[in-house]
Amino acid sequence: MKILVTNCGSSSLKCKLFDMESGKVLAKSVVNKIGNKAAEVKLIFWEKEEFSETAAVESHDKALKLVIKRLTDKECSVLSSLEEIDAVGHRVVHGGTIFKGPALVNKRVKRAIEKLIKLAPLHNGPALKGIKACEKLLPDVPQVAVFDTAFHQTLPRHAYLYSIPYEFYEKYKIRKFGFHGISHKYVSIRASELLGKPLKKLKLITCHLGNGASVCAIKGGKSIDTSMGFTPLEGLTMGTRCGDIDPAIVAFIMEKEQMTVDEVGDFLNRKCGVLGLSGISNDFRDIEREAFKGSKRAVIALEVFIYDVKRYIGAYVGILNGIDALIFTAGLGENSPLVRSQICKNLSYLGLEIDPHKNFELREGERIISKESSKPIMVIPTDEEYMVALDTKQVLKQPVRSFA
Ligand code: ADP
Repeated sequence: MKILVTNCGSSSLKCKLFDMESGKVLAKSVVNKIGNKAAEVKLIFWEKEEFSETAAVESHDKALKLVIKRLTDKECSVLSSLEEIDAVGHRVVHGGTIFKGPALVNKRVKRAIEKLIKLAPLHNGPALKGIKACEKLLPDVPQVAVFDTAFHQTLPRHAYLYSIPYEFYEKYKIRKFGFHGISHKYVSIRASELLGKPLKKLKLITCHLGNGASVCAIKGGKSIDTSMGFTPLEGLTMGTRCGDIDPAIVAFIMEKEQMTVDEVGDFLNRKCGVLGLSGISNDFRDIEREAFKGSKRAVIALEVFIYDVKRYIGAYVGILNGIDALIFTAGLGENSPLVRSQICKNLSYLGLEIDPHKNFELREGERIISKESSKPIMVIPTDEEYMVALDTKQVLKQPVRSFA
């Protein structure tokens, strides 16, 4: 079985083609700067050479056409015909309260995704475009939507409700949705497989630390709380997002800086986080380097970020009533031993003790970085596309169950 996975951003398209029997990636592509006259197209065909070009790619439609055509052309010949593609899985960020799991795409599903555009304008719009483009290009192939919010639909009421009048929840659906669900789900499944223990029996805390970052408390395979909220702005200090702040600050800044609603939204999403604190960069590599050189503001940015992650770990151990394993994933979680060691400092009272040698070892891939005597602290590289492919395969087996 071969499954194509798409991940559409506002001006980008990432695809991976999986052979589900072997789990191998047959091809992968990235198209950046869609809408630009000189979009960057990069395709990697496994066991064959890379292919890069710049081309005018004015829409997601065009980008997909280009990628799909390349999969079968003589030069690349990953597939002998498009009929080899059994299904397409689409990563969709927002599934609202409608989607509690992946869904086989039909008219109703598309309408629901469209309605949710107002909650995730930068993400759901492009995803819907990707779905429609694939329907046109591969008309007989089943399309499946896999939602980032779906994993968090198991949050209990007391975790997803905000303390504002209940009518606002009823009228506007203001509640915690949570994000990065595909990643939290994937690493929790891998953790249980690596530990050789059933997911149902595990209490896990997963830390997805990338440019966007979130922590999740997972009990018996179900998300019971997560740091992102109604939007991906809540929670940890991030690359450019402010995370948790006193809501009164928003009105205060708007008044002092004469900002409009749109301007303040842009400010909180793009100018804050470690970028705002450090005044240097949103990239943790730059911040770590400058901190080593003695930049006070780089040190402050790192301290605030690390403190935030620790704060959530502490809270989640409390609500989980214990912890069996702590998991790090995404750009920073997978690649920064410094950040991991600082987060895990003084957690021995929870039975969590990092092994400095294992943590700083120059290794990639899945690994345990805790001392023998400690509960496992793990690094598990996330693979959101593979999780989308697995969910897609699952839906094809039971399509009716998929639309809650
Ligand atoms: P996103 O998908 O949210 O854009 P990623 O998961 O790709 O983010 O993570 C990007 C972040 O990871 C960047 O801030 C980057 O600096 C950080 N990162 C990647 N490698 C390292 C490293 N070796 N040391 C420190 N930070 C790193």
